Amino acid sequence: MAPHALLIPLPAQGHVNPMMQLAWKLVSNEFFVTFLNSDSNHNRILTANTPNSFFDNIRMISVPVEIAPIDTLKGIENGIEALAKDMGPSVIDRVIQEINAREEENKVTCIIADVWMCFGLQPVATLHKLPLAAFHTSPVSLFAMRYFSAHLVSLGILHSDGIPKENKKTKYLPSMPALHSGDLPWLWAGEYMFRKGIRMGEEIKPIKWVLFNSFLEIEAPVVETLSKEVGVYPIGPLIPPEFLHSRTTTKVLPSFWKNDTGCLQWLHKQCADSVIYISFGSLAVLSEKQLEELALGVEATRRPFLWVVRSDLMKGSQAVLPAGFLDRVRDRGCIVSWAPQLEVLSHPSIACFVTHCGWNSVQESITMGVPMLCWPYFADQFLNRTYVVDVWKLGLPLNANSQGMIEQEEFVKGVEILLESEQGLEIREGARKLKIIARDAVKDGGSSSNNFNLFVTAMKRQLNE
Ligand code: UDP
Repeated sequence: MAPHALLIPLPAQGHVNPMMQLAWKLVSNEFFVTFLNSDSNHNRILTANTPNSFFDNIRMISVPVEIAPIDTLKGIENGIEALAKDMGPSVIDRVIQEINAREEENKVTCIIADVWMCFGLQPVATLHKLPLAAFHTSPVSLFAMRYFSAHLVSLGILHSDGIPKENKKTKYLPSMPALHSGDLPWLWAGEYMFRKGIRMGEEIKPIKWVLFNSFLEIEAPVVETLSKEVGVYPIGPLIPPEFLHSRTTTKVLPSFWKNDTGCLQWLHKQCADSVIYISFGSLAVLSEKQLEELALGVEATRRPFLWVVRSDLMKGSQAVLPAGFLDRVRDRGCIVSWAPQLEVLSHPSIACFVTHCGWNSVQESITMGVPMLCWPYFADQFLNRTYVVDVWKLGLPLNANSQGMIEQEEFVKGVEILLESEQGLEIREGARKLKIIARDAVKDGGSSSNNFNLFVTAMKRQLNE
């Protein structure tokens, strides 16, 4: 009997993507995968993507979820609590029962759930005698911050609601870089997120396998610290193999939006290392004034650019660009509503990535050797920026003024330093070196490859027990 993994992502693009990459990796190791989405995401994926071989040996199924969860950013608390009901333990129990009743020869043999979907799941796994693994789509350092945050309260460094007592740059954990107090990853969603993070640590601790979309070489000190407490297995960067072996490929990740592949034709016409790629991922929004300021900054660089302007990128209404902007940049700009990002980042014409520092984007940029200009928006993105800028030295921050606005001059300055200066040259060299280290991690004998093999072997071994 082949192993059959039930995969349960948190229903948001940045969590579904790496879970799908994990699904492909399992399938290439003789697993069958059932991939459980919320019904709205399931429909979005099937509508936005033409049927293809991506889903061979991956069965996509769905359950109704009442509140569209994280992707609207409306009421994170409501979204997470609704998920606990609509995709929580009792629903998973029913899904497993249905699969097993239908398919005598292809019963579920293990569960891999996003850390956000693990609350209360262990008893269901135990009931069905299935191993449960947790999957963390963000850095190990984020989990460590959550895991040790109750300790930081007991030390008097944080208030009991997660607010830091002192407003300054602080080394919260010895194995992590100093973080500005305003950059702590739970602050954007208040006490709810702080408490949920502490509970997540408690839920995850007994789970033997915690898989991370990261790799040892970029987070070694914090991996070492956390491994004393939790079964930490970094298996990333989770990038489809096609993107690791050549720079031209036809495979793209199934996304919630329709990919505008026309931008690839446009990229083919640009010079090597010339294009600024700008994308804020699937959730971040900008104010109208900030969007305008960014457009004017892009224009002022006088460089070719590819910019993902999602229709909902502007806070509150359909995104609008400054009057006359499109005409003025027509000969050197390409604007799309959703790009095949892996193909874009692996294209030889890309010079740098202006990114919101979502963890997937950061991992993808590292793996493609593209230096970054960091424009974090929320959650772990400020933490990720600290690693990109201070630890790995793969990018520069774009700093906001006292009103929280990143001005056009700051944008132009960042681009010029990154692409023209001595400092920029070192950053670009660093990006090229880390690209090799990232790829080595997932090669045979690499740190992530070894971790993944341990997991696969254990899941196959328990089939015979
Ligand atoms: N992405 C994409 N096309 C775009 C923008 C983003 O395919 O135009 C993908 C990107 O490659 C990444 C994911 O969407 O895998 C975004 O995840 P990330 O963690 O970077 O940010 P989030 O959307 O969760 O804020």
